[in-house]
Amino acid sequence: MYNLIILKYFHWTYIAGMFINKAFFYVEMAKRVQSPSSINTYKQCPRKYFFIYNAKLETSENVHTIRGGVVHDVLEKFFDMPTEDLDRENFINRFTKYIRGLFDKKWDDAQKRLKSIDLSDEEISHYYQDSLVMLANWLNQFFNKLKIVLDDKKKTVEEAFKEIKPKFREKEFRSDMYSVRGFIDYIEYENGKVKVMDYKTSKADEMKPEYRLQLAIYALLFNEKYGRHPDKVGLWLLKHGERTIDVNDELVALAKEELELIHVNTESDNIEDYPKNVTPLCKWKTGQCEFYEICFEKENIPKNHKEKLIKLDLLEKLD
Ligand code: SF4
Repeated sequence: MYNLIILKYFHWTYIAGMFINKAFFYVEMAKRVQSPSSINTYKQCPRKYFFIYNAKLETSENVHTIRGGVVHDVLEKFFDMPTEDLDRENFINRFTKYIRGLFDKKWDDAQKRLKSIDLSDEEISHYYQDSLVMLANWLNQFFNKLKIVLDDKKKTVEEAFKEIKPKFREKEFRSDMYSVRGFIDYIEYENGKVKVMDYKTSKADEMKPEYRLQLAIYALLFNEKYGRHPDKVGLWLLKHGERTIDVNDELVALAKEELELIHVNTESDNIEDYPKNVTPLCKWKTGQCEFYEICFEKENIPKNHKEKLIKLDLLEKLD
């Protein structure tokens, strides 16, 4: 009799447990996949996050995103250069010509997008020159590295190039456990040490909190895939050079805390749970947030945004 009751109890406990586990599973599954960029957008302004990731309003490109994309592409493709016929006499010339050719091609490809953002020819030319200076700076540092391997290890140019070539370039990492993903620009393995790096075309020479968080997330993603911390994470600031930080438990804990927080903060689909954060980033001397009209000048909301807001029944809910 008791056995039967115990069996029944366990049976229902088991079914209830399965149900609870499944419920948790579905809650986990329902989490939005975040990225360093989505988290930093939320931290800058929850309302902006809502417009981009919940309402999925159209976002426009700007010169920094287009130029950043071109430079990133060039640096990624650079390492595909054929190197069989390089030698110690011709390599500087050949690498320089190759990167210049890549850049000119990518810049030409981006012309239509650059023209669509209302820049004058002088401004476009300024960004072209500025990008060339960044690439020249990068190439200089690349030559320094290459020369160290050439001189110290007495290798051929082809062997030295192979040795300093990043192990991974533009690689996607994803964590189902933390519901986050990121594209890592490159990963280097040097003397058994691992360095996870991101290129930046920004002017400032500083490890801003948003960069630190991005790198912390990369360290977490790397750790989850390979079961160990990378030794360093860092930025290749194309105007200034390489800046790295050591990876430790504290850095990875920062990523975990911020991920837990963003998942809790973005569970809701209600615009009221995403307050405006009014700062100088709403409007500045030469520009404004692309959602400025929605927040502060409702009579001037662009047509594409207005239509989408009406469709989502959000226009009346705007404060
Ligand atoms: S205008 Fe300001 S408050 Fe509105 S979404 Fe942009 S940053 Fe946020």
